[in-house]
Amino acid sequence: MIKKDLVIIGAGAAGLSSALAAYQNGVEEILILEKEEDAGGILNQCIHTGFGLHTFHQEMSGPAYAQKCIDLVEQTPIEIQTSTMVLSVSQDRVVTCSSSKYGLQKIQAKAIVFATGCRERSRGAIQLPGTRPAGIMSAGTAQRYLNIDGWLVGKKVLILGSGDIGLIMARRMTLEGAEVVAVAELMPYSNGLPRNLKQCLDDFNIPLYLSHTITDIKGHHRVEQVVLSQVDEKLQPIAGTEKVFDVDTVLLSVGLIPENSLLEDAGAVLHPRTKGPIVDERCMTSIEGIFACGNSLHVHDLVDFVYAEGQRAGKAAADYLHQIQPADKMIDVIAKGELSYILPQKLHPSDTKLFYRVKSPLKNCTIEISCNNQIIRTLKKPALIPSIMEEITIKKQWLDECDGPLVVEVKA
Ligand SMILES: Cc1cc2nc3c(=O)[nH]c(=O)nc-3n(C[C@H](O)[C@H](O)[C@H](O)COP(=O)(O)OP(=O)(O)OC[C@H]3O[C@@H](n4cnc5c(N)ncnc54)[C@H](O)[C@@H]3O)c2cc1C
Repeated sequence: MIKKDLVIIGAGAAGLSSALAAYQNGVEEILILEKEEDAGGILNQCIHTGFGLHTFHQEMSGPAYAQKCIDLVEQTPIEIQTSTMVLSVSQDRVVTCSSSKYGLQKIQAKAIVFATGCRERSRGAIQLPGTRPAGIMSAGTAQRYLNIDGWLVGKKVLILGSGDIGLIMARRMTLEGAEVVAVAELMPYSNGLPRNLKQCLDDFNIPLYLSHTITDIKGHHRVEQVVLSQVDEKLQPIAGTEKVFDVDTVLLSVGLIPENSLLEDAGAVLHPRTKGPIVDERCMTSIEGIFACGNSLHVHDLVDFVYAEGQRAGKAAADYLHQIQPADKMIDVIAKGELSYILPQKLHPSDTKLFYRVKSPLKNCTIEISCNNQIIRTLKKPALIPSIMEEITIKKQWLDECDGPLVVEVKA
C-alpha cells in the first residue's frame, strides 16, 4: 500500500491552500487527489472578476486565482494527482481511489483533509411543478457549459433563486446575448451578496421578483412558458398573482449542499443545518486525524475565506502529525436566536474565531456570548444579512473560565 503523511481530497482553493499550509508547517509527503483533469475546482468556471482581494490584494478572475494557487503548489514538492476519483475513506485513514493512469490505488494516510466542495440543489430537490422538457438546468451547470465548453444554453431565460450563482449567471447570459426576463426569489430578500445584486441585476435592468416562485413549467421538447406566482408569509403561492413568461430556459440557483457522502460513509458526524461535518477549531471532524475545509465544511460566500479556512486545516493537520495536541478540555458551541448556524461547533480553549450566518436580514442586533447563563461578551451589529458570513474573535481566557457550553445568541 502507498503511504503518505497527508492526503488532501479535492484541488480547489481549499485543498490547495491546506496543502501549502501543511507544507509550510513541516509536513513532507503531501498528496492531493482531484477527480477533474485540472486542479482549481469551481474557480475554473468562474471567469468573472471579484476574487482575491483579501488573499492576494488584487482583483482576479476565478481561473487566475486558481492558477496563482497552483503555481504556489508547484514551487513545492507537493504532488497533485488529477483525473483521480476518491471512492472511499476508512476510519483508519485508508483512501481508495481510481484513475485511468494508475488504476485502483489504496493509500494509507496519517492525516486526511476533505476539501471536496459542494453540489447544487436540483429540480427534484425542490419539487418544481410542470412538465419536464429540455432547457431546465442548474445555474452552475449552465456556467460550466458556457464558460468552459462554449455553449450558450438558451436565448430567453428565467432564473429561479437569487443566490450568487444565479445573479452571476443573469449577467453572464446577458453579456453573451441572451435575454434574462426575470430572476425570481422565494424569500422576501435576496440570498446573494449586495455587490452582485447591483453589478449583475441593477446594472443590466434585470427585474428581481422577491416572494415569487415557479408554479408551472410548460413545454413539450423544450421549455416554452414559465408561470411565476407571488407567495404569502408561509411561502405558499397566492392564487390570482400568476405571471406568464415566454422563455426557452430555466436556470436554478436554489442552494448549495456541501459534498460529504464519503465523509459520512466514513462515519463522521454531520451537522443537520450546515450539512458539513461537526468540527472543532482545528477543522478536525469527529474522526481523529480527518479534517474538513472550504465548501465541503460549509458553503462560503468568498473564495478568500475558503483559502483562509484551508490554511487553518492544513496547519492543524501539520500540528496533528507533529503530535502538538490542544488542551484536553472541549467546549460545545451552541447557536441560539436568529443564528442560522455557527462554526466550529466545538472548541478547545485557545485564541480563535467563530463564524456564523443569520437566518434573515436583521437591523440593530445584539450578539450575546454566554456560558452557564453568565454573559461573557456583548457585541452590537448595525445590520446582518444571511448572504454574508460574519466572525467573532474568541479569547482563550474566556474559555478557560467556561464550564459548560458556550452559547451564542443573536437578538434583533
Ligand atoms: C458560480 C460561483 C461564483 C462565485 N463567485 C465568487 C466571486 O465572485 N468571488 C469570490 O470570492 N468567490 C466566489 N465564489 C465562491 C468560491 O469560488 C468558492 O467558494 C471556492 O472556490 C470553493 O472552493 P473549494 O475548494 O471549497 O471547492 P471547489 O472549488 O468546488 O473544489 C472541490 C474540488 O474537490 C474535487 N472533488 C470532489 N469530490 C472528489 C472526489 N471524490 N475525488 C476527487 N476529487 C473530488 C472537485 O472536483 C473539486 O475540484 C463563487 C462560487 C461559485 C460556485
